[in-house]
Amino acid sequence: MVLGIDIGGTNTEFAVVDSTQGIVHIETIKTKSHNSFLNYIENFTDVVKDLTKKFNISSIGIGAPNFDSGSNTFCPVNFNWSDVSPFNLEQHLVHEVSISSSVVNDANAVALAENRYGIGRNVNSFIIITIGTGLGAGIVINNHLFDGSYGYAGEFGHTKVENIDRTCNCGGVGCLETVVSANGIKRTIAKKLNLNSPEEAPDVRSIFEKAKKGDIVCKETLEYTFQVLGKKLSDLIHILTPEAIVFCGNISKSLDTYIPLIKKECERNLLNNMRGKTNYIVSNLLDQKINLLGPASLAFNKKLDFA
Ligand SMILES: [Zn+2]
Repeated sequence: MVLGIDIGGTNTEFAVVDSTQGIVHIETIKTKSHNSFLNYIENFTDVVKDLTKKFNISSIGIGAPNFDSGSNTFCPVNFNWSDVSPFNLEQHLVHEVSISSSVVNDANAVALAENRYGIGRNVNSFIIITIGTGLGAGIVINNHLFDGSYGYAGEFGHTKVENIDRTCNCGGVGCLETVVSANGIKRTIAKKLNLNSPEEAPDVRSIFEKAKKGDIVCKETLEYTFQVLGKKLSDLIHILTPEAIVFCGNISKSLDTYIPLIKKECERNLLNNMRGKTNYIVSNLLDQKINLLGPASLAFNKKLDFA
C-alpha cells in the first residue's frame, strides 16, 4: 500500500491506497486552521506517523503547491503564514518515518493520476488544465510527465493576458489565473456589478447556476472567462500539439456547457493544419478523488517515472 497526500489551500488529505482496491482510508486536516507553517508541519507529521503505524505503507507520494524539484523543497507562498520558507518534505519524512517519499507539484500530480487512471489509457500526449482557486497545467508527453528542469513546467496560470491589469498572487500583473480561476471569475463579476471587492461577489457555483437560468451578467462573466481560456490554450497547442486537453478542478464540474465555446475560441486561433486534431474533454476522474490518486500514482510509479 502507498500513502498519497494532497496539500491544498483549504484541506490536506491523506489517502491510503491499495494497488488493486484503490483508496481504502482517508484522513483530512484543515490546512488553514494552523496558526503557523511549523505548527502545520508538526500536525502533518503526526498524521503520517499515525497512518504508517496502522497500515503497511511502502512509499509516500505528495502533491504540494510551489514545489521546486531543483532544491527538492516546497514553499506554499499562497498560504497566509508568516513563517513560510522552503521546506524539504521528502527528507523530513524519510527522517521521521523511514519510508521513501517523493513530492510533485500539485498540477503535475493530477497529470500523473490522469496518465495512470484516466485519459492516459487512451492517448499518449495530453495536457491537464486544473481550474480551481488558481489555474495550473500538467503536461504528459508520450506517457511521461514533463515537469521541466526544476519541476515547475506547466505554470500556465501565470502566462500573461493582453489588456489585463489585475495583480496576481504571484506579484505579477495580467496573469491568466487572475481571469480564469474561481477568484478570477469573482473579480470579473465584481467589476461588472460595481462591487467594492471580489469578496462581495456571489460564489462561483451560484454564478454557474444563475447563468444556466439565463442571468445575463453571470452568463457574460463566464463566456468572457472561457473565451480568454480558449485563446490562451491555442498557445499551448501550437507549442505541444497534444492529442487532448483535459479539464479538471472544482470548476470543471460545471464546465460541460462551456466546452464548445472554449474549443471554438481555441481552434479559431490555431494554424490551419492544427485544427480539428485536439479533443477537449472534462476529466472523468472528477468524482474519484483525483487529488489523491495523483500523489498515489507518484508513489506507485516512482521507480518507473523518476528512476
Ligand atoms: Zn501570476
